[in-house]
Amino acid sequence: MAHRRCAQRRSRPRSHVRGTGRPRPRRLGRSSTSGGGGDDPPGRRSRLRASLTSRRLDLRSALASYLVARDLPAHSFTPGAEGHCAICGLYDDALAQDLNVLNFERFKWGGTRHDSIIYAAFDLQQFHRAPRLEPTAADRELGRTILTTLRELPPGVTAAQAVTHLRPLKGNKSERQVLLDILGICGVLDTTDHHGYSDGFVPWSRRTLPSRRFIDQAYPACWWTSAAGISTKAVESVLPILA
Ligand SMILES: [Zn+2]
Repeated sequence: MAHRRCAQRRSRPRSHVRGTGRPRPRRLGRSSTSGGGGDDPPGRRSRLRASLTSRRLDLRSALASYLVARDLPAHSFTPGAEGHCAICGLYDDALAQDLNVLNFERFKWGGTRHDSIIYAAFDLQQFHRAPRLEPTAADRELGRTILTTLRELPPGVTAAQAVTHLRPLKGNKSERQVLLDILGICGVLDTTDHHGYSDGFVPWSRRTLPSRRFIDQAYPACWWTSAAGISTKAVESVLPILA
């Protein structure tokens, strides 16, 4: 999946989102692209829906990991800014990743490093072993409610602010933030200039982040405001049962 020479640096200090205890989305990027994948991620879409009422956050994470990994191009280390690979964002001189930490984050928040290919690989491996859980009518209804809520927000609401509007979703603020991060990766929160992975892999060099001091959402959700609406195309492609 990834080139062998890149691996993720572990020594980077991990700051936290204010007041939540959730690790802040890491500055892993620069911007986007997108194309149009229509293949079915077996089981992953339904697991995301099934996670909505069950609060199985580990299942919620797998759809994002699948989309990140699906179109990752085979490549060698491609020097980018700050020692990162410009394609995948990993470092060339990597230290081993603590999988216990990744697993904790999966269960605690539904993952926080969805654009890391190390996390994506681990997450999908664990997903494959996880007990199956079929979505219910309540999951579908809740999924549609969430999308309708996002679609009908007044203009100017950021993704971080939208979290407070997702009260029908069980869980705490951090879990809702991560759900929005996942919807961003799914392309549902695409903006004109910043896209998720529904249409193709987004190179690290294009995953830019806003220049403001506090960034509470990961790329590309950090760019989204309600003025952009939600992408019907991405919903139909990635979460068709909620369209
Ligand atoms: Zn790479």
